[in-house]
Amino acid sequence: MRTTLREVLVLKGKCKMCGFNFTLFDLGEGHLGMRCVQCDMIYQVAEKDPVLDALFKQFTLRYGKITAETARYGVTWSDEYLAALEATCDPCKCGGSLKTQNFQQCTQCHSRKIEWVETPKPIWERREVPSVTHHQWQARQGVT
Ligand SMILES: [Zn+2]
Ligand SMILES: [Zn+2]
Repeated sequence: MRTTLREVLVLKGKCKMCGFNFTLFDLGEGHLGMRCVQCDMIYQVAEKDPVLDALFKQFTLRYGKITAETARYGVTWSDEYLAALEATCDPCKCGGSLKTQNFQQCTQCHSRKIEWVETPKPIWERREVPSVTHHQWQARQGVT
């Protein structure tokens, strides 16, 4: 598993529906972050991830016009695409499954009624961010 040490922007949110306080991590433009549902590990999807590319092709065939930008990095990702991507990812070291970070939703109840907690200045954290792997999924597909 390839891990990079990088600066991530910490975003604190609060849900107006269930009151849950959550943290999301902005890995910077062009870097999709995945989050473990059990611990606070975050993962990135590698820039040249063959499984992501294959999925992307599949969805383009099915739906036609998804541009590379919106499909991979934009805010208009379809839930279906994200669910498909999540299903290909190996679980976290702790055993938890990985979810794509959705910056429009509460991580607890998925309500879109959220607010960002303002901090005096942006919070940057230096973290080890491993790239996601797809070994289990590839084994199921019969690809190695
Ligand atoms: Zn974990
Ligand atoms: Zn909530």
